[in-house]
Amino acid sequence: MVKDKLNFTNEVKRRRTFAIISHPDAGKTTLTEKFLLYGGAIRSAGSVKSRRSAKYAVSDWMEIEKQRGISVTSSVLQFEYDDFCINILDTPGHQDFSEDTYRTLMAADSAVMVIDCSKGVEEQTKKLFKVCKMRGIPIFTFINKMDRMGKDPFDLLDDIENVLDIKSCPVNWPIGSGKNFKGVYNRSENKIEVFNDGNHGQSIAKTITGDLTDDKFTELLGDDLHEQLKNDIELLDIAGDNFSIDEIQNGNLTPVFFGSALTNFGVEPFLKSFLDITTPPKARPSNLGDINPETSNFSGFIFKIQANMNPAHRDRIAFLRICSGKFEKGMIVNHVQKNKKVKLAQPQQFVAQDRVVVDNAYPGDIIGIHDPGIFNIGDTLCQDGSGLKYAGIPQFAPEHFARISTLNSLKRKQFLKGITQLAQEGAIQVYKRPNIGLEELIIGVVGVLQFDVLEYRLKNEYGVDVSKQLLPYKHIRWIANEDYDTSNLSLTMDSMLVENKDEQPVILFQNEWSIRHILERNKDIELREHS
Ligand code: GDP
Repeated sequence: MVKDKLNFTNEVKRRRTFAIISHPDAGKTTLTEKFLLYGGAIRSAGSVKSRRSAKYAVSDWMEIEKQRGISVTSSVLQFEYDDFCINILDTPGHQDFSEDTYRTLMAADSAVMVIDCSKGVEEQTKKLFKVCKMRGIPIFTFINKMDRMGKDPFDLLDDIENVLDIKSCPVNWPIGSGKNFKGVYNRSENKIEVFNDGNHGQSIAKTITGDLTDDKFTELLGDDLHEQLKNDIELLDIAGDNFSIDEIQNGNLTPVFFGSALTNFGVEPFLKSFLDITTPPKARPSNLGDINPETSNFSGFIFKIQANMNPAHRDRIAFLRICSGKFEKGMIVNHVQKNKKVKLAQPQQFVAQDRVVVDNAYPGDIIGIHDPGIFNIGDTLCQDGSGLKYAGIPQFAPEHFARISTLNSLKRKQFLKGITQLAQEGAIQVYKRPNIGLEELIIGVVGVLQFDVLEYRLKNEYGVDVSKQLLPYKHIRWIANEDYDTSNLSLTMDSMLVENKDEQPVILFQNEWSIRHILERNKDIELREHS
């Protein structure tokens, strides 16, 4: 018994569950692949496929989804490294960018942010970062592609602090850049890790340890670079934010590492440092207070539902993030929201590229469970009858809107069924204009590809052809006032009033300016960015 308990505690403590966030092309796939190579989960580079540049027609894309189970196999990768059990959550790139991407971050305990040194903080990183910041999880920064000419490292730090509004603390510091890149200086260990472009990281980087003023450093770097390094470090020591594990773990400070994923430079030191500093699964908020992962009551929540897109089966997989207790195959748990018992018979886990049936899993792990259509995003499963419910997953603001209506009014029922199904999966958000029938709906999505997926699936799974008219709205705000009487609302030409599925009033706007305008015109309303 005691041994079991100790073993369980140890399994929780060695879990590290994180997402890698970046703008497409910054090097997320390359970095993930290097991590997997260190963990021995894959044997050769090129095994992790990037979906970055593929511009498929939607039908091709759907075929690929089906064949590879793309989002399924690449949604989470588990591997072992140095006694840690690591779960990497995938956040898809621009082609597949959708609300799912945001929701995945709800299941992560920390995030690695990859930035291209020649680009700085880019749009998609900004959006994903915002969600991580909202959750207060630790965020580690890897500034990639140092083997190429990049921006001045001080400018990159300014970019992180100003654009993302987080304090930063470089753990290592680059010496030269592009063709003249010599390596990095590790600030806490007083050593230079030497960049050797030629061997593409097949061997461990050579290091030279010594005081900053050491002559060995001049020999290696030459007078100019050595002088610059001394000045840079002095400036960082005086003006930079101090390294603090507490501040990092609370998500107020991001440690910054410079390296090059492609040439495998600085990747392993980064991984080691990240695994040491970041936290194992922490207590999660619920209606019964914070739930400690080490309590014996098994519990978790569903953060993603993936339809298999096989019209014959309507097979769906729900992704469950385990938050407490030990999972055992075949266990019977309570589906709290539905007040039902569910047997978890064929749970799957995703190890490197393979799906395997799991017998046991622990807090921090993600398992895929078969969904006969009973789960919704945000549902809690738990072993005891306490009625424990994890804090819900927020609805993220869609950024693209379209008016969708069925072309054949006799198919109205199938149309609504399909729309309801897709909304339950969280692929789309559905709105209705007041006083307009259900044949015409306003659909909001986070990633524009979701419209194509919607059309494709309505046709293939429900036999419904629709017409789609893209609308110029970009922003959405929920009216927060209780029982607000919308007949008093004074709108502008470039905004539109709709209702969400709970018949709450929501306004769509074309630009930020019109949001301010409406607030000025209607002094009594309070607008919220999330539902
Ligand atoms: P993702 O879209 O963020 O997953 O980016 P990828 O990992 O697919 O990388 C995008 C491109 O950048 C690929 O051509 C990579 O080979 C290249 N790349 C990634 N890391 C580095 C690096 O450290 N240095 C250089 N020069 N290129 C890199």
